[in-house]
Amino acid sequence: MVPAPTLFDERTDAAASTAPATSGAANGTAAYGFSTRAIHVGSEPDAGTSAVIPAISLSTTYKQDGVGNFKGFEYSRSANPNRDSFERALASLEGAKHGLGFSSGSAVTATILAALPPASHIVSVNDVYGGTYRYFTKVASTTQNINVDFVEMGGEAAAVEERLRDAVKPETKIVWVETPTNPTLRLIDINLVARVIKSIAPSAALVVDSTFLSPWYQNPLTLGADIVVHSITKYINGHSDVVMGAAVTNSDEWANKLRFLQNSIGAVPSAFDSWLALRGLKTLALRLKAHGQSALAVATYLSSHPAVDEVLYPGLPSHASHALARRQVSKRAAPKEASGPFAYGGMVSFRLKSDPKDERPAKEVLKNTHVFTLAESLGGVESLIELPSLMTHASVSPEDREKLGVEHNLIRVSVGLEDIDDLIADLDGAFKAANLA
Ligand SMILES: *Cc1c(COP(=O)(O)O)cnc(C)c1O
Repeated sequence: MVPAPTLFDERTDAAASTAPATSGAANGTAAYGFSTRAIHVGSEPDAGTSAVIPAISLSTTYKQDGVGNFKGFEYSRSANPNRDSFERALASLEGAKHGLGFSSGSAVTATILAALPPASHIVSVNDVYGGTYRYFTKVASTTQNINVDFVEMGGEAAAVEERLRDAVKPETKIVWVETPTNPTLRLIDINLVARVIKSIAPSAALVVDSTFLSPWYQNPLTLGADIVVHSITKYINGHSDVVMGAAVTNSDEWANKLRFLQNSIGAVPSAFDSWLALRGLKTLALRLKAHGQSALAVATYLSSHPAVDEVLYPGLPSHASHALARRQVSKRAAPKEASGPFAYGGMVSFRLKSDPKDERPAKEVLKNTHVFTLAESLGGVESLIELPSLMTHASVSPEDREKLGVEHNLIRVSVGLEDIDDLIADLDGAFKAANLA
């Protein structure tokens, strides 16, 4: 159905030895690195025009040479050249056999759940993305009678294993993990969860939402995940101008199911969005390295600020899951030094020393930044700042927010690619303007 793979369809550079063997090793071609694949897979020169960049294929339908005899594309919902390019590029970056593009990250969640029989059971990480929580509890629960148990999957290995054993049932079809979590940036040990699930519920699929780190920092398939989910809207497109999602997997069975549902439900991305997302993905390595370095600099600055009580950044040695961050980070993004701080994504959260029940101090800070834009979302080149308790996590009850540590003194920033001196000066000025320094 899709064009023949090319020289660049390599599955290399993966984080762990459990990665599937590369076709490169098998056919004698060189193993290409992350950015080479990001730039070339899916962007092969056009056979007709030799254009280096794929044209945007807006046609909804494709001429057949005889009935049922078509050159890979038939009708644009089923397959589109730009979506296909994007899907192949992303699959290559995740070391996956299959990639599937969707109209949003939320559409990926809905489509995966549509593959489940009625009355299935899901075990989910407790502080899952709000939209995923909403779909589980307000949509799938009523339309498919799907039951979800939310489980604390962080912390000590034996305790995590015990909680998983308690939660898993015979009808558990999916274990849903998100790491780091949002907005408190806790880490879940993907390999640990995978090992426990494979031993107690071998038929359940482990799904990992890897949106916060992108394939540059994390490749869950190499750690035992069955399906990786991305909101392309965030780092992979990276320019805050596309809403899109994707799933990748090495399982032929899951790929077939999802491909069928992608076409049947039709929550597909447009050709233009697929084209933009492929363009964004080409610079993923450069952007994510820079996001990480600047986020580390912001986190370090905040750690020594007198108005800040606690900084949540897994790359800092003070973070509870710092050791796990070192183990779980992809080899390509791993720090050279055996200890000390390192770049681990572009998201930083921090708690002000103010009363957690009082929203005024944080609101004052957020009112006084000029480079950081007050807005939801993340992963774009521009820095964003927000107050989760009243914005992204406003729908979570105050009791649950308190349990999750999401109160009015917790601020989340998506560190963009502006000059780091400007970003730090901006935060410094906001603290002063809020009378916190
Ligand atoms: C944004 C986001 C989603 C949802 O993606 P959309 O593209 O907004 O539908 C899912 N998971 C995480 C972690 C996200 O940040």
